[in-house]
Amino acid sequence: MVIAGNIAKIEERILNACNKAGRKREEITLMGVSKFIPVNLIEEAFNAGVRYFGESRVKEAVEKLEGFKINRKEAQIHLIGSLQRNKAKNAAMFFDCVQSADRNELIAELEKHSQLRSKKLDVLLELHTGEETKSGFENLDALFKAAENLLSCKKLQPAGLMTMAPFTDDKEAVRSSFRQLAKAQEEMQKRFPPAENWACLSMGMSNDFETAIEEGSTLLRIGSAIFKG
Ligand SMILES: *Cc1c(COP(=O)(O)O)cnc(C)c1O
Repeated sequence: MVIAGNIAKIEERILNACNKAGRKREEITLMGVSKFIPVNLIEEAFNAGVRYFGESRVKEAVEKLEGFKINRKEAQIHLIGSLQRNKAKNAAMFFDCVQSADRNELIAELEKHSQLRSKKLDVLLELHTGEETKSGFENLDALFKAAENLLSCKKLQPAGLMTMAPFTDDKEAVRSSFRQLAKAQEEMQKRFPPAENWACLSMGMSNDFETAIEEGSTLLRIGSAIFKG
């Protein structure tokens, strides 16, 4: 019940932010970040309408969600945490999308291990946009090279971009990070059409999702605001 209530509050805030930004609610997907959260609570969120879940570790996700009672096909499970090369195989077999592709060698590993998939693996390229975070491609040039690499893969589907804003109370630093990602998306769409390949803009967490909506986010990764309290 707590979780359904939390989600209702978040939905209200998403709607307000959409109204303020002149955007439609349907443009935005709410993902529940379920790292460290037990399956019974994940099911509560599912029952309250959440269909996208983000996990940060491959092993934890597989162990926890393999036996996800609800039809696995109805849920989309994404990897959002940094991926080690030796976990790429399990990641390629298990997830619907890897949001944290941040190195070319990782893209190659994911392609190699996706050969047995029936459906292509969606991949988001992660861009480093904030001083205090470490992961992600360093700049637009690196992103362009990664995109060329990704587009040459037969079993991977480019789906968009992801970033983590810096952990700070400085709202303008957070906004600037989101702006960088939105700008990068524009460049990718121009350079590597069709635009649809880069449609997903994964940005915004519990503390900054309203700003992310204002800056164009299409996928909010929300953990604590859903599962805590
Ligand atoms: C944990 C995590 C989130 C969710 O963070 P909250 O502040 O709990 O909403 C989102 N994205 C990534 C990559 C994370 O690791």
